[in-house]
Amino acid sequence: MASSPTVLMRLVASAYSIAQKAGTIVRRVIAEGDLGIIEKTCATDLQTKADRLVQASICSSLARKFPKLTIIGEEDLPPEDVDQELIEDGQWEEILKQPCPSQYSAIKEEDLVVWVDPLDGTKEYTEGLLDNVTVLIGIAYEGKAIAGVINQPYYNYQAGPDAVLGRTIWGILGLGAFGFQLKEVPAGKHIITTTRSHNSQLVTDCVTAMNPDDVLRVGGAGNKIIQLIEGKASAYVFASPGCKKWDTCAPEVILHAVGGKLTDIHGNALQYNKEVKHMNSAGVLATLRNYDYYASRVPQSVKNALVP
Ligand code: AMP
Ligand code: MG
Ligand code: MG
Repeated sequence: MASSPTVLMRLVASAYSIAQKAGTIVRRVIAEGDLGIIEKTCATDLQTKADRLVQASICSSLARKFPKLTIIGEEDLPPEDVDQELIEDGQWEEILKQPCPSQYSAIKEEDLVVWVDPLDGTKEYTEGLLDNVTVLIGIAYEGKAIAGVINQPYYNYQAGPDAVLGRTIWGILGLGAFGFQLKEVPAGKHIITTTRSHNSQLVTDCVTAMNPDDVLRVGGAGNKIIQLIEGKASAYVFASPGCKKWDTCAPEVILHAVGGKLTDIHGNALQYNKEVKHMNSAGVLATLRNYDYYASRVPQSVKNALVP
């Protein structure tokens, strides 16, 4: 007889359905036309109605089913009752059919930390660059990112009226990553993806030192990792503080599950235990292949300026 699914598999199956619901909310807010934009720390650090509604939806839906989880979301929201209409109770059955990697089979709910970015790429969302936007649910155990779900609400939005809008990518270390077609940049090409809205001299210095054939400036950490796994870019280089643990947790898992590597700019692994500081102060360096090529080209001056 098949044994019942483990906590981790149930959580990922629920996170998948919850991320799909999040995608519908992100699209609905645009369709309704009132983004409700608030500046958080500055004009490039924004929050919209979609960031607020999606965080309430994800965190409440998860907490109802898994009350012992630690859930850390990006947005500071006042504690209030969440509209029942925002609650998602489903779980994606395809995930429940998959085997749980044996090293995670005994994990208990209270051992897990969930990092939630309800809307990654908010600046681009407000500017209509809709395919830059993702919803990120990352799951960590013993400080390590082990499972993740990424919903891209506007995947295919420029592909014509018959195309299915939106997709969900998910992965677990030791099992794999699913919901996309893995592709690599042609051998020998160095295509860097980096920030569009949070540039600085240090970011530019580091990108230039990589001797790139091309530089893509796009929004979102989730979006940039999707570029790596779909053969559009060979390295994500962000030599700056600004990116947080909820930006990197889910994307890191998807990348690692297919053999890639994400670290800070010094090459240190990122930590995701609940006590960790949220800011990735020493930036991000991520590649699908040839990590060492890019790591070896980070200038010492850049390293000196970015303290972990
Ligand atoms: P970007 O590549 O600029 O889209 O940044 C990736 C993620 O990090 C997004 O969630 C950004 O909001 C966040 N981020 C990066 N730099 C900053 C910054 N200087 N201030 C606020 N958020 C930032
Ligand atoms: Mg983000
Ligand atoms: Mg966000």
